[in-house]
Amino acid sequence: MSVINKYFNKVLDFLFPPSCPICGAPVESHGHLCGDCWSCFEWIDGPHCVCCGYPFPDDYEPDSNAMCPVCAAGKNELDFIRAACIYDDMSRSVMLPFKHGGRIKFARFMSHAMIWALRDVDIKPDIVIPVPLANRRLFHRGYNQATLLAREISRVYNAPIDYDSVHRLYRPNMGHKTHAERARNIRGVFSVMDTGKIRGKKILLVDDVMTSGATFDELARVLRRAGAVAVYGVVFCRVVRAD
Ligand SMILES: [Zn+2]
Ligand SMILES: [Zn+2]
Repeated sequence: MSVINKYFNKVLDFLFPPSCPICGAPVESHGHLCGDCWSCFEWIDGPHCVCCGYPFPDDYEPDSNAMCPVCAAGKNELDFIRAACIYDDMSRSVMLPFKHGGRIKFARFMSHAMIWALRDVDIKPDIVIPVPLANRRLFHRGYNQATLLAREISRVYNAPIDYDSVHRLYRPNMGHKTHAERARNIRGVFSVMDTGKIRGKKILLVDDVMTSGATFDELARVLRRAGAVAVYGVVFCRVVRAD
């Protein structure tokens, strides 16, 4: 960082002191959470499936290659998935305003957490694809929350964001609960518009939340059919079944 940049940042910090994006408490640098808010999330920092990142119970001591039953059965279409935290009341309380209420300032700490979530996987994606929204949703919402999360991830991995190679059809959310129902509802909604940009590529998919994994699975299938050689996924939070 140049001297001028440093000086400029100091002036900015003086004029707009860094504050926690959730509660407004003073913090050391912009975009970071305060300790209290940070500790309210259930970060996935313990043992997890080597493939999809599914968290194992804290007292479980798996060997370093342990897989969850879904991955062990070969039912996960992605090479790796990681999530920063578990979907619970706290993550829901930031996800809803982020997704529907225009609180885009949350993107910074969320994407930093997602980069942290990828710490144990050795990936070199060629492109980053934010899971696309159907045009109708994009029109109503005004932005794709996955794209906001993808920006910092794309910068850190030095892999450009691909905004338009994959198109998503509008299909109403039917409130499906099971993986099978969700998988059926999502089948056929994605299509690759330009296979030339997908063929031979290692692709990192970015989304805000993973529920059953049906969206990632379907998108991965479509990308592989178009010639992608590897598909990874990262989300801010994931639903974990209460076993
Ligand atoms: Zn806070
Ligand atoms: Zn797994």
